[in-house]
Amino acid sequence: MPSPPRPIVKIATPGPFAEALDYLDPAGTAQPGCRVEIPLGRRRVVGVVLQRASSSDLEAGRLRQISALIDDQPLLDAALLKLLLWVSDYYQHPIGDTLANALPGMLKRGADITAGSTRWRLTPTCRGVEASALAAELKRAPRQLELLQFLLDADPAAGLSEDQLAEHPQWRQPLQRLIERDWVRAEFEPWQPAAAAAAPGPALNEEQSAAVYSMLDSSGFATHLLQGVTGSGKTEVYLELIRQRCAERQTLVLVPEIGLTPQLVARFARLGLPLVTLHSGMLESERRRAWAAARSGQARIVIGTRSAVFTPLPEAGLIIVDEEHDGSLKQQEGLRYHARDVAIRRAQFEGLPIVLGSATPALESIANARAGRSMQIFLNKRAGAGRPPTTRLIDLRSEPVRSGMSPPLIQAMDRHLQAGGQVMLFLNRRGFAPALLCHECSWTADCRRCDAKLTLHARSERLICHHCGAQSGIPLNCPECKSEDLIAAGQGTERLEEKVATLFPDQALVRLDRDSMRRRGSLEAALQSIRDGEARIMIGTQMLAKGHDFPNVTLAAVINADGGLFAVDFRAAERMAQLIVQVSGRAGRGEKAGEVLIQTHQPEHPLLQSLVTSGYSGFAETALREREEYRLPPYSFLAVLRAEATAEAAGRSFLQTAVKVADRCRPEGMALWGPAPAPMFRRAGRYRYQLLVNAPQRPRLQQFLKQWLPQLRALPQSRKVRWSVDVDPLDLY
Ligand code: ADP
Ligand code: ZN
Ligand code: ZN
Repeated sequence: MPSPPRPIVKIATPGPFAEALDYLDPAGTAQPGCRVEIPLGRRRVVGVVLQRASSSDLEAGRLRQISALIDDQPLLDAALLKLLLWVSDYYQHPIGDTLANALPGMLKRGADITAGSTRWRLTPTCRGVEASALAAELKRAPRQLELLQFLLDADPAAGLSEDQLAEHPQWRQPLQRLIERDWVRAEFEPWQPAAAAAAPGPALNEEQSAAVYSMLDSSGFATHLLQGVTGSGKTEVYLELIRQRCAERQTLVLVPEIGLTPQLVARFARLGLPLVTLHSGMLESERRRAWAAARSGQARIVIGTRSAVFTPLPEAGLIIVDEEHDGSLKQQEGLRYHARDVAIRRAQFEGLPIVLGSATPALESIANARAGRSMQIFLNKRAGAGRPPTTRLIDLRSEPVRSGMSPPLIQAMDRHLQAGGQVMLFLNRRGFAPALLCHECSWTADCRRCDAKLTLHARSERLICHHCGAQSGIPLNCPECKSEDLIAAGQGTERLEEKVATLFPDQALVRLDRDSMRRRGSLEAALQSIRDGEARIMIGTQMLAKGHDFPNVTLAAVINADGGLFAVDFRAAERMAQLIVQVSGRAGRGEKAGEVLIQTHQPEHPLLQSLVTSGYSGFAETALREREEYRLPPYSFLAVLRAEATAEAAGRSFLQTAVKVADRCRPEGMALWGPAPAPMFRRAGRYRYQLLVNAPQRPRLQQFLKQWLPQLRALPQSRKVRWSVDVDPLDLY
């Protein structure tokens, strides 16, 4: 007699399993999208149900039962599950880990979805009491005083979450005491996403209105590429589009980084809709609760960095990807996905309009528009008072340059500062100098674990490897020849700062890079001093170029534009052009005219020329022609197989085997390039190789990868190296 169908569920589990695993669900209650606790080996783990099934390839005896059902309602809806399955399939990444990228940490570990939806509101009752009186009263209770001070300084509406308390275990007891003494009132209140008061924005200009109307015109899935010069008012277009199209539904806004552009969030708050943000700088509890508010539909605007593309939105109406060209939308390890591309797929699955906004769209996005896959809308004028700046190249070959500064640049700075303007200088290299070398024997301070020079950091008096983080002290003399004649070669932001300080001793200077902004709050303080006009000269890495709106900056300069013109990576020129345009966008946003100076050794380089004479569109034209000629993306499709190991030849030999395997299943027109040593051969003590796969069509690449990779996973050799596949790689490093 045949046995009755067994209730089987297919579960995505953490770990390296490419496929879902089968379990028995005797109660038959586990729905797709619910989390379950399951035995895996000797551990218990949290998995997500993908699908119910009536049979399994496993023998009955080997099927294990789920241990517990965590959610009685699906945590992830059907649309999101479909998207995640697509992501796992397209990026060739295990489904379990793909799901792990979509869930906030605590939920991944099985926490209750409703936990964190309430919070403590702690109100000090001693507002207005003299600080010295408080200090005297709590002289013997420094912790109570510390906590009280924290609460007095904090935003009264913000409350204190349990996780914040958990971060400060030393506060538990003092809190108890303060409550007993009636110095603090404690209430437990439900948490809801905050909606600011709605505030009107500027009336849109003609270009902006036309952009909004053309986007309103579509229904269902449609991709709009909004290419607006910096300062053209793209954000106002997004806001109006939400007002007109999506006020009753949910809008997802993806941005490359939130910490750098806090004003952007403030501008969306003007809509007066409940808004949450999602990014890595948040406490886990804050993230989980923002995520839950999106899932429940309470949050109407969700602004987040790349992984927010996986936020559940039951009433999604619109997706916006701001600065769609930005490399931080691509995850570079683990699940190597591009949030913009996933967002487009999501919009397609859910029948939504999507807006990609940038002053400097990725060449892929421009090519998509040309091919009719998206609609390109231009904003060519600056909104409000700003006018386009004038751009000039400075030929470094004919100028006596000191510490990166040429005389024409110094004169221009002088002129702008005299006229009351602010000046921004960009140099994409932090530290004091990118190399330390011996004048006598030409020894250089190299990283022991990487094929790279150590960067000299003067402030912290260290030599630091920017690739693996290795550090050492600065030697007083050459370890090879004992000479004391050691030279710091090249420019970093620290050195530029020092130079500029001697050139302009009376001007307040701010340096903005990852080193100077390490402390919490220092970025806000720096941005504020720029906005106030207190800082006159700003020196920074690309951090300074991103989306800030400082109306009084009239001069922006790129200290060295050569990096992008000679790099091995075929995208380097595109990135350099984007940086230059973003930098230019910082100058002349207010009433006064702006000027942009670009220092280079190659002023006649065709890409630089087309950028200066015909703007980003002209550059894109030239660059796309080049890509087409060399059959590079967007005119071909790439995947890169990387392999690294501590043994020098292991990576190469694995990739050589991979080539042999590929020869058995390689379709027509597909090229394999390599294996070749990675541009940085040794990094963090490992020898790195890569193999590029170049295909004329996307489906063909996908089909090939699906045949090829399982065979590679089955090779015993594959366990001796660290290897990964990167579909549509952004960087070849
Ligand atoms: P983008 O994102 O394209 O760089 P923003 O949306 O930040 O541009 O707008 C640049 C500046 O112009 C902002 O200060 C914004 O408030 C202002 N602005 C935008 N649209 C208008 C408008 N229609 N009228 C007046 N000012 C505007
Ligand atoms: Zn020496
Ligand atoms: Zn290193």
